[in-house]
Amino acid sequence: MTAPVSSALPVGSTLDARRIQVVLRGRNGAADVHLGTAGAARASVRLTMAERAAIDALVRAVQLLRERVGLAGIDDAGTAVKLILRDSDATANGPWATTGSLAVGTRNALAKDAGSRGRAGILLTVDSAIHELVHVVQFGRMATNAKPNGAILEGIADAAALLATNDDTLGEEFFALGPDGRHQGAIRELGSPRISGMPLGPTIRRYREASAKGAEVHAAGGVVSETFILLRRTLGRDQAEALLWRVIRDATAWRQGGTWATLASALTRAAAAMGGTAPAAMIAALRTTGLDAALPAAAPAAVAA
Ligand SMILES: [Zn+2]
Repeated sequence: MTAPVSSALPVGSTLDARRIQVVLRGRNGAADVHLGTAGAARASVRLTMAERAAIDALVRAVQLLRERVGLAGIDDAGTAVKLILRDSDATANGPWATTGSLAVGTRNALAKDAGSRGRAGILLTVDSAIHELVHVVQFGRMATNAKPNGAILEGIADAAALLATNDDTLGEEFFALGPDGRHQGAIRELGSPRISGMPLGPTIRRYREASAKGAEVHAAGGVVSETFILLRRTLGRDQAEALLWRVIRDATAWRQGGTWATLASALTRAAAAMGGTAPAAMIAALRTTGLDAALPAAAPAAVAA
């Protein structure tokens, strides 16, 4: 049965809407209210327009990742992601993810200091939904006692978002368009600058700075997204994205939360498994970002270089 309201969802989204379970966070310690699948939740009169738009953004993210990289649920076994609405931490600080779920707040926290430059009704964008969804996928592959390397998690999530959307500016839709037709802010600019004004945070593109003590994790993740921007140039978007998802699906790379050495090894392993020009393109990209310095000394790929 298809409810009439699902016709408002993006084309081809029936399957994807079932891969999302929506929950309203209970207020003042009250129990969470389960609204069901994305399609059912969207039809609920309890939701605001902004919340329906957030559901649509997540449906689109799930759909894009299914179409482009075959993602079938957060564990590739069909398990749905839980979307928590009206989460107070997300209201204060923006969307976040944990094992199995992704949370958004009641207002646009990312542009809360932007005044009229911020768009109050935007709780989640398609690229930020992909970013958070990738965190859910990562957490699902980690051992319970793992100590995640935040910069690697962030960089992989950003790279997945930019390759899936083919848009190197993250979260510009949280900000209004200016008179020059450009968005007046963004979360991060991973490629060439496109917005007017400043992004919320900087982007580090070299491993030496990214691995320095005290580097902010979202900024430091830039070394990973830069590596994939370079690979997109040499291998094309589809191959670069396929390579990235080999790494995301590589349990060895995540079990302990990831280190720069396990990441660099997983990258060379994925390139070797792909064959063709991928190994040489990977060596060149790692050399440019300096990530080759993280390769274990005896790694065959480093010797072959
Ligand atoms: Zn993140």
